[in-house]
Amino acid sequence: MSSFNSNSRAYLYSAEKPTDAQMEGFVKFLSKKYNREITVSWVNSKEFPGGFRLEIGNDVYDWSKEGKFEQLREKLSYLAKNSDNVIPLMKETVHSWTPAAIAREVGTVLTVGDGIATVEGLENVTFGEILIFTDGIRGMVMELRRDEVGVILFSDEAPIMEGSSVYRTGKTAGIPVGDGFIGRVINPLGEPIDGRGVIDSKNYRPIESPAPGIIDRQPVNRPMETGLLAIDSMFPIGRGQRELIIGDRQTGKTAIALDTITNQKGKDVICIYVAIGQKASSVAQMVNNLRNKGAMDYTIIVNASASDAAPVQYIAPYAGCALGEYFMQKGEDVLIIYDDLSKHAIAYRSLSLLLDRSPGREAYPGDVFYLHSRLLERAAHLSDELGGGSMTALPIVETQAGDVSAYIPTNIISITDGQIFLETALFFEGQRPAVNVGLSVSRVGGDAQTKAMKKATGTLRLDLAQYREMEVFTQFSSDLDDSTKNQLLYGKGLMRILRQKQYKPYSGEDEVILLVCALGRLFIPVPEKEINKVSEELLQYFRQNRPDIADRIRGSEGLPDEMKKEILAVGAEFMAKRK
Ligand code: ATP
Ligand code: MG
Repeated sequence: MSSFNSNSRAYLYSAEKPTDAQMEGFVKFLSKKYNREITVSWVNSKEFPGGFRLEIGNDVYDWSKEGKFEQLREKLSYLAKNSDNVIPLMKETVHSWTPAAIAREVGTVLTVGDGIATVEGLENVTFGEILIFTDGIRGMVMELRRDEVGVILFSDEAPIMEGSSVYRTGKTAGIPVGDGFIGRVINPLGEPIDGRGVIDSKNYRPIESPAPGIIDRQPVNRPMETGLLAIDSMFPIGRGQRELIIGDRQTGKTAIALDTITNQKGKDVICIYVAIGQKASSVAQMVNNLRNKGAMDYTIIVNASASDAAPVQYIAPYAGCALGEYFMQKGEDVLIIYDDLSKHAIAYRSLSLLLDRSPGREAYPGDVFYLHSRLLERAAHLSDELGGGSMTALPIVETQAGDVSAYIPTNIISITDGQIFLETALFFEGQRPAVNVGLSVSRVGGDAQTKAMKKATGTLRLDLAQYREMEVFTQFSSDLDDSTKNQLLYGKGLMRILRQKQYKPYSGEDEVILLVCALGRLFIPVPEKEINKVSEELLQYFRQNRPDIADRIRGSEGLPDEMKKEILAVGAEFMAKRK
């Protein structure tokens, strides 16, 4: 800490004049510590009754009462956290009651404004370190320069003045973690904002930590079911995968994420929803919806709303991720949603510009790719040696007029294992979820699909592609032959089957039954408008008359051909009765 200190004069602040012997002791102590001649001047100060304060350059040695209390406090909180060490530490506390000096580097605020402060005089400060300002306001070092550092502030900067003191903590930013967070709404600093009292947490994790390496991982091989037929059938997501949800504004992006959360009920998955830059009112409404659906029993909401400062929005996804890692490392399965990373990138851009970093493409700083890659790489399926837990990430990105080739969308598309592309035109046609089948893809989830689902999906994607092509060609011709007409009806029916209301997830078995019947062309005679109602009735029929089928799909290894035939027979029976 003292290596860059070149001052040779130290100042001793105390109420009483030290004796010559004491003075000599200080000189000896300092000269030994800094390895050079140092003179000490006494300053009469009433600020430290019953103690001293020794300052040399930016190093402060605190023998004041306050300093003693702080040491005691630190020791007590350590005791509380490490109860195993209580006995030896208690002994130590008792015996070494006279505290050792704490050396703290103190800096001075140069400028402050827009959630950013520049500070000079902290020579040994590190990147990402937390600093304490006036009134205990916390800030994080984001920019290191030769003579000064740029710091982002996590709360209102009003009490901080030019020239006020700043202290180092030697710690990086972290968040308390623990099981007590489940069911709660917190801000990115880990403080509850739902008015339900303090959260009991014994653990603490840095918000930034390195992603698991190759050896620590295993392949993605278990499904994370969304309950949405359009996604589970064609773009299956596996536990530990990162699947991007991308689309223009108001295309149902958040709805897909929320449906996936509601579908995890009773599946032992812990869900974390990180809201970045959204209206506080819409987040409140969402929490209400989730609570009514019983989904808050296993969900944590991390909210950095639009009115929060850019630094708070910037750390939100990392804080959520740290919470997720806590559960993942306990061997649990976690689903984390970042809604959305476009707003996160914008918060980071404003920070960077305020910190005087040079702007690049679309005025984003040069490291905006790393901003998201280091976040999304932390999603993983851990090896069995590490407990086999997983964290599945569903980042959301908003596009402008469907432009997926803008800077942030292309970056995140290249980081993730696939994307679900939502289209405004489809959304307004009533095709909801508005998944564009041609542009969406899931690169790893296929391995995680259940065998039954894999077999049931069959030629769905191909059939839909053919339908779209045929639809374009036949738009203007009126006289179509029967087989073409049938083909069109079949395609239209498939598209209808993929429509699904919000908060109405299908179970995996229902999805298989629906797919087998639809691909078996049972829905061709049903008028288009009635398809969704009829499919609901069909599932009801199966549940009432043949509950064994769902059980067998759940239990059996795959979907043997005989079972497929059986499902088709029961489906046909239902259709015949319906008429
Ligand atoms: P934003 O860009 O504002 O974040 P978004 O893309 O997240 O919007 P949502 O808020 O999820 O979109 O959905 C927009 C509207 O569409 C909401 O009112 C929602 O209730 C409705 N909606 C979404 N999905 C469906 C669906 N499957 N069926 C019916 N309505 C839906
Ligand atoms: Mg949204």
